Amino acid sequence: MKLDVNVLRYLSKEEFRVLTAVEMGMKNHEIVPAELVDRIAGLKHGGAFKNMKTLLRHKLVHHDSSKYDGYRLTNLGYDFLAIKTMVSRGLISGVGRQIGVGKESDIFEVVTPEGETMALKLHRLGRTSFRAVKSKRDYLKHRNSYSWLYLSRLAALKEYAFMKALGEHGFPVPRAVDWNRHCVLMTLVEGYPLVQVKKLQNPERAFDTILGLITRLAEHGLIHCDFNEFNLMVDDKENITMIDFPQMVSVSHCNAEMYFDRDVECIFKFFGKRFNFSPSGLSKVESDMNGGGGVDSNNEEGDGRPDFESVAGGLGTLDKELSASGFTRKNQEVLEKFVEDAEGLEEEDSSEEEEEEEEEEHCIVHLQTEVDNVDEHFSDLSAFNMLSVSNGEQEAGTES
Ligand code: ADP
Ligand code: MG
Repeated sequence: MKLDVNVLRYLSKEEFRVLTAVEMGMKNHEIVPAELVDRIAGLKHGGAFKNMKTLLRHKLVHHDSSKYDGYRLTNLGYDFLAIKTMVSRGLISGVGRQIGVGKESDIFEVVTPEGETMALKLHRLGRTSFRAVKSKRDYLKHRNSYSWLYLSRLAALKEYAFMKALGEHGFPVPRAVDWNRHCVLMTLVEGYPLVQVKKLQNPERAFDTILGLITRLAEHGLIHCDFNEFNLMVDDKENITMIDFPQMVSVSHCNAEMYFDRDVECIFKFFGKRFNFSPSGLSKVESDMNGGGGVDSNNEEGDGRPDFESVAGGLGTLDKELSASGFTRKNQEVLEKFVEDAEGLEEEDSSEEEEEEEEEEHCIVHLQTEVDNVDEHFSDLSAFNMLSVSNGEQEAGTES
């Protein structure tokens, strides 16, 4: 699949200006009234309406006239704004194939002006669960319209901040290069997700490394919370890199021990099943009998599971460093609340949600299949390097 960014090259300065105006309007309107877009864009002679046609045609905005004449940004519109910012910063010059699709993100290969291939993660918090949460919870009441943008942006900021801090503390993570809106730019990890690895030369070493990461994180005051075979990359030399950080919590979180044990258990289960491996020379069956079904946090059975209390005893300083990075405790609370609610509501069905989901699908026409020619592998974005939003005020509303 491919994010078709060619459209970006042909969008005019004014069209981008109108797109940015819709984004700004969404801070306090679910559907931004047409006149407001026009006013924010500040173009002469109804310029906003003229330019809106192109934006609609490329599905960067969605027209809604159910309550009044208005517009909202689509996923694609938001993607374009972020990608354009990355291009203007001189960080990327092309977007290639999609390399990953998670529940709440899309990951694309991108190329830098120097020719290096990197990974761009676009967060889509709420893609699966936000509407359900929104309809049942009102804690985001005041940010209702802006919420999916706001939450995806928070997730990106968090991921960037954590990846950067973890990298600086010697954890094997991709290098966090930059972030904007809902996007995080990072180095590309060699290898494959562990889930795709059928055989390891040295499962014991991999297991120790991986378990060591969980305990080392806890010593630094953190729990990954989604530590599993999908979020661990393995290269040819069986080096491990961990990815995917938006759900991390502090060891002082009220459910910390449960999250920690769950991370540990995931690894035990996977290594048992896939590689028929369990630590300390126990066979899988013996290990299961020793408490493999549930987590033995007291660890008196000697089943190799680390004990939360003893590893997380000395609080690391990473929490403090992270709040200095711009990701505040308040941000963390909002995200955590959202994730908890979303988890609780995931199973619930809603026909209204399905209807909307269908509509969203139409917004994702940019994903084309097949890349048939290596030369076309990356869409060259150099042409829109020159397109910049000239009104400083507009960018100020969407810092980083
Ligand atoms: P999600 O939060 O949606 O699970 P992830 O960060 O786990 O997103 O990424 C989803 C998939 O994309 C991963 O399983 C991996 O295959 C791929 N991926 C993510 N980041 C990188 C990277 N930096 N380098 C290479 N592949 C990556
Ligand atoms: Mg993941």
